[in-house]
Amino acid sequence: MKKYYGGCLCKSVKYEVTGELEHFYLCHCKYCRKDSGSAHAANLFSSTAKLIWIKGADKVREFQVEDTEHKKAFCSICGSPLPNFQAEGTLLVIPAGSLDSPLDKKPDGHIFLSNKADWDENLADVKTYNHFPEGS
Ligand SMILES: [Zn+2]
Ligand SMILES: [Zn+2]
Repeated sequence: MKKYYGGCLCKSVKYEVTGELEHFYLCHCKYCRKDSGSAHAANLFSSTAKLIWIKGADKVREFQVEDTEHKKAFCSICGSPLPNFQAEGTLLVIPAGSLDSPLDKKPDGHIFLSNKADWDENLADVKTYNHFPEGS
């Protein structure tokens, strides 16, 4: 059984996930853009993996967008996205950026591209830097 560890920015919350992470999607929908504050969310999905809060379970808050399937779990101190169960508890959704363990998996695809931000165009072609650019 594979095990993954993760947590939030302020280190109040730590979790362990055991099992297979079946899918990995980059979602550009309007809810994921708000949720992540970025061009897309990067979420792993599993219908079989188990989630254990190692610490800080009492700091985890959940928010469900009314009349949608979109749910977000986050640390009540630092706001970092955290894993949560969706689809009536049958689907574990793990924000890939919250993992501390290495991930031997690449995204399966970009989804809801029809919803993408207007600046989200050929991002792979944008100039890259290994550090914050000099002089900006
Ligand atoms: Zn935190
Ligand atoms: Zn989405």
